[in-house]
Amino acid sequence: MRKKLIAGNWKMFKKLGESQALAREIAAAAGSHGKVELLVCPTYTSLASVAETLKGSPVKVGAQDLHWEEQGAFTGKISWDMIKDAGADYVIIGHSEQRTYFHETDETVNKKTRTALKGKLVPIICVGETLAQRDANQTLDIVSNQTRKAFEGIPKADAAVCVIAYEPVWAIGTGRNATPEQAQEVHAMIRKLVSGLYDSGVADGMRILYGGSMKPENAKSLLSLADIDGGLIGGASLKADSFLAIAAAS
Ligand code: PEP
Repeated sequence: MRKKLIAGNWKMFKKLGESQALAREIAAAAGSHGKVELLVCPTYTSLASVAETLKGSPVKVGAQDLHWEEQGAFTGKISWDMIKDAGADYVIIGHSEQRTYFHETDETVNKKTRTALKGKLVPIICVGETLAQRDANQTLDIVSNQTRKAFEGIPKADAAVCVIAYEPVWAIGTGRNATPEQAQEVHAMIRKLVSGLYDSGVADGMRILYGGSMKPENAKSLLSLADIDGGLIGGASLKADSFLAIAAAS
C-alpha cells in the first residue's frame, strides 16, 4: 500500500516570516492527517528556518532544485549537501518551469536525480507534456521519454526511492486541471514503464503524484484513482486551509 504524498511547491513565494507562519499552521493540523505524508518545498532562503520550525512534526521539507555538482564555482546554485544541511529530505527535479525558463533538459534531470540519490535526498522527478504535444497526440511518447531518460543508469535500489510527478504543462498555474481519466491514463502508463525498466515491485511501490491546478474542489476525484498517489501542488499550497483540505481529500 503506497502512502499518499501531498507536496506543496511554494515556488518563488513567501519571505522568511511568511514561510515560518505557513509551516507552523500546517504543522498544527498535521496530526489529523496521519494517513498522508505532508511535504513543503519553500525557497532556499527559507529552507533551514522552515525545517527548524517543523522539527518534531511529521511534515517533511524539500528543496525546489539542486545542482548536480557537489561544490564549486557555480554562482547561484545549491548542492545536495547544502540542502541536507538545511534539514531537507526531498528535492523537486525537472519542474516544467525549470525546463521552460532555465534550460533544464532530460540530461540535467538525470544528472540531478543521480546526485540527489547519492546524497540520500528523495527526488521528485517532474514529467509532463505541453498543450501542443497533447493536441498532437504525443502525450504518452513525451512522458515516457522523459521518464526513461530520468532513470538512465540508475540502479533498481535507487529507483525504488524516487517519486515521479506527472504535471501536464498546460495545467500548471492555469486553473485547468487534467481530467481524472487523462491523469489516470498517464499514471498507469508511467507505472507500466517503470515495471519494464525495473520490475513490478519497484513499480508497485513507486509514488506517482499528479500536479497541475489541484485544489480542494478537484482533489478527491484525482486522488481516488488507482495510480494517483498524491499531489504536487503550487498555488493551493500557499494557504494552509487549501493545502490541508487537499490532504483531507486524500
Ligand atoms: C506546480 O507548480 O507544480 C503546480 C502544480 O502548480 P499549480 O498547482 O499552481 O498548478
